[in-house]
Amino acid sequence: MKNIPAIFGENVFNDVVMRSTLPREVYKSLRKTIDAGETIDMSIADSVANAMKDWALSKGATHYTHWFQPLTNLTAEKHDGFIEPVGGDAVIMQLTGKSLIVGEPDASSFPSGGSRATDAARGYTAWDPTSPAFVKEGTLYIPTIFVSYTGETLDKKAPLLKSMTAIDREGKRILKLFGIDCAKVNTTVGPEQEYFLIDAKDYEKREDLVLTGRTLFGAPAPRGQELEDHYFGVLKPRVAEFMADLDETLWKYGVLSKTKHNEVAPAQHELAPIFTTTNIAVDTNQLTMELMKKVAARHGLTCLLHEKPFVGINGSGKHNNWSLSTAGFNILDPGENPEDNSLFMLVLACIISAVDKYQGLLRACVASAGNDHRLGGGEAPPAIISVYLGDEIGGIVDSLVLGKNYTPHKAVKGSIGVPESPIFPIDSTDRNRTSPFAFTGNKFEFRMLGSSASVADPNVVLNTIVAEAFREAADKLETAENLEKAIKTYTEKLLKAHHRIVFNYNGYGPEWEAEAERRGLLNHKNTADAVSECFKKENIDVFVRQGVYTKNEAVARAKIQLENYVKTVCVEARTMIDMATRQIYPAVSAYVGTLCDTLAKKKALFSSLPCTADEKTIRTLSVANENMLSAVENLKADLSNMPKNEQEAARRTAHVIVPRMREIRGFADEMEKLCAKEYWPFPDYYDLLFGVK
Ligand code: ADP
Ligand code: MG
Repeated sequence: MKNIPAIFGENVFNDVVMRSTLPREVYKSLRKTIDAGETIDMSIADSVANAMKDWALSKGATHYTHWFQPLTNLTAEKHDGFIEPVGGDAVIMQLTGKSLIVGEPDASSFPSGGSRATDAARGYTAWDPTSPAFVKEGTLYIPTIFVSYTGETLDKKAPLLKSMTAIDREGKRILKLFGIDCAKVNTTVGPEQEYFLIDAKDYEKREDLVLTGRTLFGAPAPRGQELEDHYFGVLKPRVAEFMADLDETLWKYGVLSKTKHNEVAPAQHELAPIFTTTNIAVDTNQLTMELMKKVAARHGLTCLLHEKPFVGINGSGKHNNWSLSTAGFNILDPGENPEDNSLFMLVLACIISAVDKYQGLLRACVASAGNDHRLGGGEAPPAIISVYLGDEIGGIVDSLVLGKNYTPHKAVKGSIGVPESPIFPIDSTDRNRTSPFAFTGNKFEFRMLGSSASVADPNVVLNTIVAEAFREAADKLETAENLEKAIKTYTEKLLKAHHRIVFNYNGYGPEWEAEAERRGLLNHKNTADAVSECFKKENIDVFVRQGVYTKNEAVARAKIQLENYVKTVCVEARTMIDMATRQIYPAVSAYVGTLCDTLAKKKALFSSLPCTADEKTIRTLSVANENMLSAVENLKADLSNMPKNEQEAARRTAHVIVPRMREIRGFADEMEKLCAKEYWPFPDYYDLLFGVK
């Protein structure tokens, strides 16, 4: 067993290292920038750069990179050596303050959604000192933001930082109403990450997994998740070894990996870190996803982060646990008597109103080709945004809105009735697994995120819309004469106006869809429809007002999201065409050929032998194979005339391409069930889901 406190963060230029390597004044100045958001003092750059470089060299680094997050859900890096010639054939290892602070990568090959002209290639990366640098595989990684020559943001981090500034600014105004002066209001995030592990050898044999991350074909295995034996089940040895290796790797990078367990579907697992400030949670989640894949490879495994790698069993999501804190306390902690906690009640009302008003944005920010298979698919949350409050808080809200009687919940002690077993306190909120946005004690859990996506976008939206609700509240209340009364009235008014978004029951049932429609809630089932919300004036204005996006940036981002959606589905469609034509069709033909040969031989030898089943199989396979190929021809035609406009292309993708792909898959999966396993051209669901021992 390793000494974990000793290895924790050993690859990170963290506070401990900074304190021991930086001159005192430099350390103090940098800390001020990190903690209170003060503008960085440029005169300390050289000193910090030099200390960082010396530390990185001691860790075996030869290069440094500005690490950034373009609009692809992935991270980007370009490595430069520390090496510098000093004349006389000698070199030194150097990192200047300027190279630490700005970089100039070519921006032309990153998505910009038309916010940057193609000939204006120049982009800048700028150091984000609030997220610590680290050494990985011989390179010093410096977290940065990414902007264009004209100042438009081209990444996920710059808007995230801006949204954190917005919530800090407006949050402080709310706290001030209650006489609380604080240096900073922070949002905290703990993202739970789901994933699948399969054998790398099987993965490599499937073109669909390699090119698209999910299976485009595959009949269900005889066993799926119905026995409910995988969730929290005993870890298989190879999986346990992988998880131990992953934990140790993550700890060295300072990631607070805490919880690991098997998930509902076979071969599905989860990792949850301890929450931290949003910016760091986003960066470390990106790093976690990258390291999950790398560590899996070391164990002969492949980690699938796709939202729906397999049809018929649960897909993977990410739960974004989100809260607000300021020095020393969690603003979303309701305390003993929430009904008397007017700060909590006001903040709660603001959040509920924001979620209701901007439900379109919340739905849109989690929309992607992969997540379309989950949301509304009878698993994970439905595609309708609603808020779950639980019995206690829900009871208080109902009493204010509907005038129902509310009896305070006394802390209850539970016991199972066996004297030896301990007495446990019963939580005041039960769990509701079906809600997309659930209050879970002292935080909200936004459960609609896709497993492969960056958690930046949902947090940009959450921070911005809540900041906006805070702004409206503060504008109104700051001038109130009787503040206490005004706060109470305002809270009740907000709760009444937005109560339709509160739903405390089963979100999976068909009744909820009908009820949600009656309440006028949105129910967008695919990315094309969901993202159309982002072009609405009120959904752009909120970003502009809070200084998070300009109008151009907001529109550009929505366009990129639609482009990504169309491109992803088109790659899937082309992969499908390729596999159907060059792998499945020939395999089934060969098998049918063998069946025909056998049948002919049988008939020639004993004309009286029963041949009904043989003939039926031959006929069914032949018909399905023909049908599959003709559907493939139709898909090719559909793909050849995609509209240029992003919104039209996305609609066509959702309403024409996706259904056509489902049709092709239907024929192939039917054939798979009839075809001898040895003829099937790639590993099937049994191999993939039950192959890791
Ligand atoms: P569950 O699966 O029951 O939701 P987990 O323990 O797997 O619970 O995950 C809960 C997550 O919520 C963890 O990442 C935890 O750190 C995070 N969390 C707890 N408190 C807060 C908070 N105040 N702000 C943000 N995240 C939080
Ligand atoms: Mg959870």
